[in-house]
Amino acid sequence: MFINKAFNMKYLSIFSILVFTLFSSCNNPSKTVNPEEILIQRIDSLNKAGYDITDYHAHLKGGLTIEELLEHSRTSGIRYGVAVNCGVGFPVQNDSALSAYYRSMKDYPVYQGMQAEGREWSTLFSADSVALFDYVFTDAMTFFDKEGRRNRLWMKDEVFIDDPEDFMEYLVTQIETILSTEKIDIYVNSSFLPDTLQSKYNELWTNERMQRVVTALKNNNIAMEINSRYKIPSAKFIKLAKAAGVKFTLGTNNTDANLGYLEYGLEMIRECDLKPEDFWKCKK
Ligand SMILES: [Zn+2]
Repeated sequence: MFINKAFNMKYLSIFSILVFTLFSSCNNPSKTVNPEEILIQRIDSLNKAGYDITDYHAHLKGGLTIEELLEHSRTSGIRYGVAVNCGVGFPVQNDSALSAYYRSMKDYPVYQGMQAEGREWSTLFSADSVALFDYVFTDAMTFFDKEGRRNRLWMKDEVFIDDPEDFMEYLVTQIETILSTEKIDIYVNSSFLPDTLQSKYNELWTNERMQRVVTALKNNNIAMEINSRYKIPSAKFIKLAKAAGVKFTLGTNNTDANLGYLEYGLEMIRECDLKPEDFWKCKK
């Protein structure tokens, strides 16, 4: 009896260890699942739930080829819009270069985007050439200030901030002017602030200033980009825009060959409870 009991206990404990090991390996997949796979799964489930996860702000930069971008699209489940930078000092500065670029890209299965640079872009390109593209976007990172100085907000030595409050007032007015006068579909790098002001983002983007931008977007039927490179705009800004009925796009604005997985955009979809209908859709 005692021997039998000991014998049974031994096999019972071996069985328990076996069950525990199997259970653990099923419920502890961390040793095999990497962060990229988690993001890919998240993108897949969003696409299946009716979202069309598209990065409308990709560039062929840092040696990235269109074939590599398409391969990344296949593995990530992200659709792409590839944009060319057009304006003074950029690779495309006139109509013939713009249409030549378009012809070289038009057969690839991506959206064709035009990134309009600086405020001079609308005088450099004809409406017919611009219309070749699926969409046009711009940001408010380049403008002339009250003193006539050309500011480029992402360049440390080309930003002139005499007073942060004055700078913000001027910037918001610039954004309103751009959104109401330039023929664009998406406002990208939205709410970007220069390096020296970024730590004060929440303080400088007051409700009143955010509301002015939201109103300009809504009145002109322009979508707002949620940018994964700069992690802007803030969730508060996005919620304010959503409440006003503004549509959103996701964008990376990659400067090198790494396209990533729209991490910040995915985070904001969750945090701001964005639905498929909150997103702008390319009509072409
Ligand atoms: Zn860009």
